[in-house]
Amino acid sequence: MDCLFCRIIRGEIPSKKVHEDAETFAFEDINPQAPTHVLIIPKKHMVGLREATAQDADIIGKCHLVAAEIARKRDIENGYRTVLNVGPGAGQSVFHLHLHLLGGRSLAWPPG
Ligand code: AMP
Ligand code: ZN
Repeated sequence: MDCLFCRIIRGEIPSKKVHEDAETFAFEDINPQAPTHVLIIPKKHMVGLREATAQDADIIGKCHLVAAEIARKRDIENGYRTVLNVGPGAGQSVFHLHLHLLGGRSLAWPPG
């Protein structure tokens, strides 16, 4: 699949890998917005939450559990945020579902 994140999973585009298992891949965001800014993605190409179906429930849940595990390992459990930007109006720029893990600094609410 000619998709930026599918190419990162295949190693055709370099990334700083944080985690990999049979179903998910996680890597450092190239333009970090916090001391920890990791993207967790399903290995199976899916466009985003808007397009997700009931069959995708397990993998979307798994991405969140991987985020929690990375947060635990990085000792940012005082406060971190997991974010799915859904659709262009929310800033989604890559159309392979990706969960942002942001932490390591105080995080304001509401987000911009
Ligand atoms: P979004 O705006 O939610 O679609 O997020 C896309 C994210 O992908 C942004 O935070 C980008 O900085 C990040 N990104 C784009 N290209 C790369 C890349 N080659 N390696 C790592 N992160 C990337
Ligand atoms: Zn993809």
